[in-house]
Amino acid sequence: MNETHDPAARSWVTSANDPNTDFPIQNLPFGVFTRQHEATPRVGIAVGDFVLDVAACERAGLFTGRAETAARACAGSSLNALLAREPEDWSQLRQAVHRLLRTDRPARDQALVEQVLVPVRDVRLHLPVIIGDYTDFYASLAHATHVGRMWRPNDPLLPNYKFVPVGYHGRASSVVVSGTLIVRPHGQTAPTGDGVPSFGPTAMLDYEVELGFIIGRGNQLGEPIRIDQADRHLFGVCLVNDWSARDMQRWESQPLGPFLSKSLLTSVSPWIVTFEALEPYRVPAFARPSGDPPPLPYLHDDRDMQRGGLALTLEAFLSTAAMRRDRMPPMRLSRGQFSDMYWTAAQLVAHHTSNGCNVRPGDLIASGTVSGVAKDARGCLLELTWRGAEPITLPTGETRRFLEDEDEVIMRGYAAREGAPRIGLGECRGRVVHHAQADDR
Ligand code: CA
Repeated sequence: MNETHDPAARSWVTSANDPNTDFPIQNLPFGVFTRQHEATPRVGIAVGDFVLDVAACERAGLFTGRAETAARACAGSSLNALLAREPEDWSQLRQAVHRLLRTDRPARDQALVEQVLVPVRDVRLHLPVIIGDYTDFYASLAHATHVGRMWRPNDPLLPNYKFVPVGYHGRASSVVVSGTLIVRPHGQTAPTGDGVPSFGPTAMLDYEVELGFIIGRGNQLGEPIRIDQADRHLFGVCLVNDWSARDMQRWESQPLGPFLSKSLLTSVSPWIVTFEALEPYRVPAFARPSGDPPPLPYLHDDRDMQRGGLALTLEAFLSTAAMRRDRMPPMRLSRGQFSDMYWTAAQLVAHHTSNGCNVRPGDLIASGTVSGVAKDARGCLLELTWRGAEPITLPTGETRRFLEDEDEVIMRGYAAREGAPRIGLGECRGRVVHHAQADDR
């Protein structure tokens, strides 16, 4: 913990002091933005209702030492050069930005910073990192149990679950920023009567509420990241919506796992909240029920057991065309706790690299659907409607088994804990359309 976590700190950017903002001065997430009519994206830090232009601060001479070096790595159109640097560089830049924005910094600096603050309403946010590889885990015991029970009522968990952090290699090219439209995918679904599968638009389009981990420094091929070193390779987190076509998934996944049912598109939130900002919200790792096996030694670390969890709440909301027409707010579908996850971020990184596989700056590692045992903590429609058997009724009287065209899914997340301000992850939203159409972000 350092001065950036001071719960009493206030900013001269007054919107950052609003108790409801996602971006108080204790958060300072990184993103990539363009101003209206600008072509070249640049790195920014969110504070209240504004975006701080990091490279412009550096050019104005507002940083020194490691913070200056780190800010120079923000001169491009992605966070990747910054991610490749040492965690101490990330930290020094964060502390320097915090000092610039605090109420008690020199007036000369404030005048300079005011010139490089852009109202967020005037910017377009982009995918913040160039994602080389995307891996999706399956780290929620409740999610794995619920989904397993649909197919194997008496034996829902497969025998490897409590030993292996299960995952699959996803598709990086179709990871997009929040706001991008989702075109209902076509695909194969299982044969019904005549023994021949059909090909057409999915009838079981779903979302999955997940947390994404952005890798900072990578590792050399053949050199695993030890679990006690994983923190030094983890830069920050974002919201992830792993859009899923359940009918396609069921037919294609045997025996090699999901393929086109997942690679259709994956949405991420535009702001990367750093692990340093999340430090006050560290909680013990998930308490394994008695009788569960302990993690194998390469997945065990005492410190990670004490602080590997995160007091993060993740919510999913739905807005239908009829709800928008009737000016109804989005309806909350679920509210899950990240602290319910069976595996920690450090365990996922240690496992991912345990065979010598290398991760690289900007890789996206998603947690898997964040679900709890309670019905309102289930992070996808597959679980919420029990594969369509228990439809949800919306305030308009409409019902949903799976997503329909023009449905918009909005994910939000925040960290909160006694004695610390609430910090948010922002939003990850996407609307389902039937055909490709002009992007209306
Ligand atoms: Ca998933």
